[in-house]
Amino acid sequence: MTRLVIVGGGIAGLAAAYYALTRPQQPPDEVIVLEKDDRWGGKIATDRVDGFVIEGGPDTFIAMKPWGMALSRELGIADRLHGSNPVQKNTYILHKGRLLPLPGGLTMMIPTDFRGMLATGLISWPGKVRMGLDFLLPPAKSPGEESLGQFVTRRLGREAYEALIEPLMSGIYAGDGDKLSLQATFPYLRDLEIKHGGLVRGALAAKRERMRKGGSNPGSRSMFVTPKTGLAELVEALVARLGELGTELRLETQVDALDMVDAGRSTNKDRRPQTASPMYRLHFANGDTLESDRVILATPSYVTARLLRPYDPELAALLEAIPYASTATVTLAYDLQNVPRSLDGYGYVIPRREGRRALACTWTSTKFPHRAPEGKALLRVFVGRAGQEADIEWTEEGLLQIAREELQLTLGITAEPLLTRVFIWPQAMPQYNVGHPARVHRIMANIQRWPGLALAGNAYHGIGIPDCIHSGEMAVERLFSQSSS
Ligand SMILES: Cc1cc2nc3c(=O)[nH]c(=O)nc-3n(C[C@H](O)[C@H](O)[C@H](O)COP(=O)(O)OP(=O)(O)OC[C@H]3O[C@@H](n4cnc5c(N)ncnc54)[C@H](O)[C@@H]3O)c2cc1C
Repeated sequence: MTRLVIVGGGIAGLAAAYYALTRPQQPPDEVIVLEKDDRWGGKIATDRVDGFVIEGGPDTFIAMKPWGMALSRELGIADRLHGSNPVQKNTYILHKGRLLPLPGGLTMMIPTDFRGMLATGLISWPGKVRMGLDFLLPPAKSPGEESLGQFVTRRLGREAYEALIEPLMSGIYAGDGDKLSLQATFPYLRDLEIKHGGLVRGALAAKRERMRKGGSNPGSRSMFVTPKTGLAELVEALVARLGELGTELRLETQVDALDMVDAGRSTNKDRRPQTASPMYRLHFANGDTLESDRVILATPSYVTARLLRPYDPELAALLEAIPYASTATVTLAYDLQNVPRSLDGYGYVIPRREGRRALACTWTSTKFPHRAPEGKALLRVFVGRAGQEADIEWTEEGLLQIAREELQLTLGITAEPLLTRVFIWPQAMPQYNVGHPARVHRIMANIQRWPGLALAGNAYHGIGIPDCIHSGEMAVERLFSQSSS
C-alpha cells in the first residue's frame, strides 16, 4: 500500500490531492487530506443567501496564468466561468477624499495612454513631468533587490507611486509596497525596463504585442474569471471529484505535530533521516496518529514551521520568517435607492497615504450583476493592510463599523444595510517582502533533505489561486518523480 497524506484543505492541498491521483504513472493507493476546519477551501469561502452571492475571500482568479483554467476544464466547470461586467468597467481611486476615475490605458498597471494621464487629476503637473522622465532615464544596471516602491519611484517618481501604482499593486497583497519585493511580486516590470529601456516604453511594447495576438479589441476577454455562483464552485467540484477518485477527506482534523520514524527507529542525533524513505507520523489534536512515507504540507508557512521545528530548526526559522498580514472583508447589501452615488463600475481602491483603515471597496452588484437581486446593491469593503493591523479592532462589530464609516464618507450611504457578512482572516496574506526570493530558494533547497516531504500553498511562489493550484501540482511532481527516479 502506498499512501500520501496532505495537510491543509485549501485550494493548494485539494489540488495536490487531485494531481496525485491523476498525474503520476503510479498514483498512490491511498490519498488522505486533513483539514482542521469544518469546511473545505481555506481562504475560498462563498455564502449564498437571499439571492446574494457573497465572497468572503477571493472573488475571481486571473485567466492568464493557466493553472486555474486548466483545473476548471478538467473538473468540467470551465463553461461556468465568466468575466466581470463588460459594460460598466470604471475603477476609481480615492484622492484627497474624493473618487477620481483610474486613467484609461493602463497596461500591466502602467500608464500607456498619454492623453488619459495628462487629463487625470490624480497626479500634479510636476508629478506628470516626473513620470515623463521614464523615457529618458536609462535602466539601472544592477540595483540589487528592490522594493516595488523603490522601483516605481525610480522610474515614475514618488507621486505616481503613491497616488496610482501603490493602491493598485500593494492591495493585491494587502502589503506595504515599500517592503514588497519587486522580484517576487511583479518581476515582469523589471524585465520591461531591461528589455525596452524604460517602464512606459516596455508597457507600450507589451500593449502592441497583446493587440497583435488578441486582434483589435484585446479587452473583450476578461482577464479575471469566476464561476457563476462563486469560487466555492471550484472547491465543491474538486471535493466531489476527489470523492469519486476515492480520496479520504477528513475535516476537523488538526495536525499538531509531525514526528519521524526511521524504519522503526528514532532518528539520529543530527535529526537527519537515516534511510532514503523515512516514515512520517502525524499527531492530531485529538491524540490520534497517522503514518505515511509521503506528506505534503499545504499549510500557512508559520504552521509548517511549527510542524518541522523539532527536526529541522533551520528550515523552520526560514519558514517562520515569512511575515503575514491579517485582513478582513465586510459585505453589505442595500436597496439601490439608498445608495446616493451611481455604482457605475467595479469599485475603488484607497492609497495608503489617504490614511483610511479600509483598503478598497468592490461594487459587487455592478462587477457581477447576477450576484445580487434586481434593485439591490452589494458592496464589499476590504479592511486591513500590512503594518496597520494595530489600528483595527478585529471583531465583527469593529470591522462593520469601519466599513460603514467608509461607505458613509465616500459614498454617502447612511441607511441601515439589509444584510451584512464579516469574514476575518488572521495572518492570511503572506508578505513577499524584499528577501523573499532568496528565502524561498533556501526553503526549497532545505526541503530536499527530507525525502517524501513537500510544501505547497500561497507562501512561496505566488498567492493567487492559479499559483496555489500550481504549487499543489509541483509538490506532487516532486514526490512522485522522486519515487520513479
Ligand atoms: C480577502 C482575500 C481576498 C483574496 N482575493 C483573491 C482574488 O481575488 N484572487 C486570487 O487569485 N487570490 C485571492 N486571494 C488569495 C488566495 O485566496 C489565497 O492565496 C489562496 O486561496 C490560499 O490557498 P492555500 O491553499 O495556499 O491556503 P489556505 O486557503 O490558507 O489553506 C490552508 C488550509 O490549511 C488548514 N490548516 C492550517 N493549519 C492546519 C493544521 N495544523 N492541520 C490541518 N489543517 C490546517 C487551514 O484551515 C486552511 O484550510 C485572496 C485572499 C484573501 C484572504
